[in-house]
Amino acid sequence: MSAVSTGLVIYSAEGTPYLFDPGSLCLELLLTGGPGVLARYEVLHEPHDLAEWLALSRLRLTPADLSVSPGELEAAHRLRDALWQLARAVARSEPRRAEDVAEINRAAAEPPLIPQLTADITPAWRLPASATQVLSAIARDAVDLFSGRFATRIRECGAPDCYLIFVDTSPSGRRRWCSMETCGNRSKVRALRSRRAT
Ligand SMILES: [Zn+2]
Repeated sequence: MSAVSTGLVIYSAEGTPYLFDPGSLCLELLLTGGPGVLARYEVLHEPHDLAEWLALSRLRLTPADLSVSPGELEAAHRLRDALWQLARAVARSEPRRAEDVAEINRAAAEPPLIPQLTADITPAWRLPASATQVLSAIARDAVDLFSGRFATRIRECGAPDCYLIFVDTSPSGRRRWCSMETCGNRSKVRALRSRRAT
């Protein structure tokens, strides 16, 4: 389900738009805001914000096909914040908190989005769907990611001032940056400058 993505457009500290593909559906949800200092990146203020964001995510759902209640918006915040805490703990090899795991399991226990085939045999979802189904699909993606073969490839961007988290699915397993266009390039420039300075 989360195999294909073209990434999401986000903005660097300088305001430059760039494409960031965190590598999985559940890590895409982290781009909507988060706990603590990440609250300033919040984009899910109203239920319709979640529907509109899901159209940008790799699920590519149309807002008109989705129902989102205020309670489901709160559930999305809880799931996202739990995913943040768990992803960061895993990326830093720190202890995982039981309450974050419980929150993800709670969302995954709900009925998920139902996969279907279209008449020309391409994948689709049975619609309309509820936000609860979408959150279940995201939580189940997290179950697969955190317990799967790429669990040891969940990383924070190597730039000291970047908080982004991705899963490195590259064949070499040597991805260090959220994006080569931004943090990767800045690091190369820094390395060049420090070489010139010495
Ligand atoms: Zn970065």
